[in-house]
Amino acid sequence: MTFKTHQTIAFAALVTVAVIYCPSDLKPATIGVSLVSNAVGALLPDIDQASNRLWDWLPGGNIWGKILKNMFGSHRSITHSILGLILIYMMVGWVFSRLFNPEYIDLIMATRALMIGYISHILADGLTEDGIPLLWPIKLRFGFPPIRSWRIKTGRWFEKWIILPIAVLYTIGLLAFNWKILMGMIG
Ligand SMILES: [Zn+2]
Repeated sequence: MTFKTHQTIAFAALVTVAVIYCPSDLKPATIGVSLVSNAVGALLPDIDQASNRLWDWLPGGNIWGKILKNMFGSHRSITHSILGLILIYMMVGWVFSRLFNPEYIDLIMATRALMIGYISHILADGLTEDGIPLLWPIKLRFGFPPIRSWRIKTGRWFEKWIILPIAVLYTIGLLAFNWKILMGMIG
C-alpha cells in the first residue's frame, strides 16, 4: 500500500483504540509524541524499501534504503513478520527511554502509539496481492482474502478510490462523534 494509505489507516487505528480505552490525564507532550510515533510506526515496516519516506528525512537517505533493502533481501521480509514486530517493540522501548524524559512524556503511551501504527501497516499490507510473511524466516505468505487474485494491487484504483476514502471518512466520523471524549483525555 502507499505511504498515504498507511498513514491514514494508522491514524484511524490510533483514534479507534483511544476511543475504546479512553486513557486519561494525557499530557499534551505525550499526545504530540504519540501522534508522531504513530506516523513513524506506519512507515517503519517499509524501512527496507528505498522509496520509504523516512529516508527523505535523512541526509543521503536513499543510499541507506538501498543498503537495508539488500540486507533484508526482498521487500516485505522480517519487517512484516511477528519476529520483526517483537524486535521493533524492544528497540522502540530502548530508544524512547533514552530519547524522552518520562516525567513529561508517557513512554508506554508513545510506544503503544508507534506499535499501533506498525501493526496497522502489516495488517493493511495483508489485503494486498503480495501478502505478508508473518512467520518469516518461513517463506509462507498470508493475506486476506486468502485467494491471492481477490486481493488488491498496491496504488491502484481500489486502494485510491475505495480504501483510502473509506479510511478518511471513518476517521473524520470517529473524531466528530467522539470529540468530547477525546478532549477529555487531556490532563
Ligand atoms: Zn509494507
